[in-house]
Amino acid sequence: MKYHLITLGCQMNKSDSERVKTVIEGIGFRWTENEEEANLLGVLACSVRQKSINKVYSQIAKWNKRKDRESLITFVSGCVLPADREKFLKLFDLIFTMNELPQFPEMIQQYGIVTPASVRKSSLGQESHVPTINKKNNEGPIFDLSAIVRQKTKISAADIQLNLPENPDIKEFWDIIPEYDSSFEAFVPIQNGCDKFCTFCAVPYTRGREVSRPSEEILSEVKRLVENGYKTITLLGQNVNSYGFDKKGNEISFSELLKKIGEYGDTCGKEFWTYFTSPHPRDMGVDVIEVIAKHKCLAKQIHIPIQSGDDKVLMRMNRKHNVDTYRHIIESIREKLPEATIFTDIIVGFTGETEEQFQNTIKAMNEFRYNMAYIAIYSPRPGATSSRWEDDIPQPEKKERLHRLTAELEVHARNYNNTLVDKTLKVLIAGTEKRSGYLSAYTEGKIPVRIYSYDKSRIGEFATVKIISAGDFSVAADFVEVMQESEV
Ligand code: SF4
Repeated sequence: MKYHLITLGCQMNKSDSERVKTVIEGIGFRWTENEEEANLLGVLACSVRQKSINKVYSQIAKWNKRKDRESLITFVSGCVLPADREKFLKLFDLIFTMNELPQFPEMIQQYGIVTPASVRKSSLGQESHVPTINKKNNEGPIFDLSAIVRQKTKISAADIQLNLPENPDIKEFWDIIPEYDSSFEAFVPIQNGCDKFCTFCAVPYTRGREVSRPSEEILSEVKRLVENGYKTITLLGQNVNSYGFDKKGNEISFSELLKKIGEYGDTCGKEFWTYFTSPHPRDMGVDVIEVIAKHKCLAKQIHIPIQSGDDKVLMRMNRKHNVDTYRHIIESIREKLPEATIFTDIIVGFTGETEEQFQNTIKAMNEFRYNMAYIAIYSPRPGATSSRWEDDIPQPEKKERLHRLTAELEVHARNYNNTLVDKTLKVLIAGTEKRSGYLSAYTEGKIPVRIYSYDKSRIGEFATVKIISAGDFSVAADFVEVMQESEV
């Protein structure tokens, strides 16, 4: 029996999908690229844009048509708003949150599916646990395990009011060893949920309150990955630097977590780069910057979202920081990590953003001289507070602001990239370029590097290269040598 999984949205969903695959493969299903030959079909939804939600609806409509002629089971998980959850319940066979993933095998068995793993057990004379209930695929039943979990769980008054999902058993989810998509780059979740409630974002309503993963587990996952040759580790969370806040003194802080990884990196004899995404400016202490400066394996690249360069817009976004507090963070980074590259996220055309307020974002771009900015045109996100406000900036105006801001970004990114020309740098070779004959790589600061070479055997290795030319957002380089593990 085969399965196919569609993962929409961000790195967090991609990371979650690696654990979903482990559980599905654990009950004997095999992955297929071709959804037409899959008996088990799932989607990890994203609620950031209506476009992504529409994709879930079109996908399930297609799958439900197939049910007229075939035996299929469908499921949905990921970031799902309460309103969509009600609708999905009528369309999918199974709906579950990531906390409930460990119970997925029982859900499948209760549904009446004889899994390959249970058949194998039976043939070996073991108890098979194949359930007695058996319903037609196109009739249901619909298992909403979260309803059961909710009955067992205390829900705070605030949560009821906000209709937030709970995260009671996320630890069990984290215990699952993921089927990593890459053999040299890994995402390690350190936290789930968000307590910040930015008005443009629906994440707190889909993922619930912040819950920190135990630091011992994070450290053992990091060590296991490094021992198995992984070259980059990205610590993932909605607000990584509020790590530990929910444990009220019973867990270490984010900077202490980085310190432990840094100390391990200093002594383990392996080369690796540790990144994290995303921190929130409000909780970005100088302790985080200082610890990165001390340890070689903590990559000198900081992604710190500003979202807007105007204090009034930031206030309406409920960002809980202003441009001045953000400025202090950048000054600390420039002082303590002079070699670090700085990335950010910016939204243009947020509801009510005036030309003058947008000009303040241009000023921020020119003051902070980012290496990369992920600039998004504002669009109301279903379920987010700002979706109830008038989306009053015309689309052509939003596009024009995007182009003007991108033009400023290009200048700063190219200026930095020009400083790399003629330098010899270490890069990680990550894959091939679309254009034949080139490998793609990146520096510790995550500047993309194009290398003329057909040698795919180098993918996944560190290499030393000489930068020969610079573009707006990437550089070109020639190999000097491939670094062997023994040279590290
Ligand atoms: S910090 Fe803001 S943007 Fe980030 S996940 Fe939380 S609410 Fe969304």
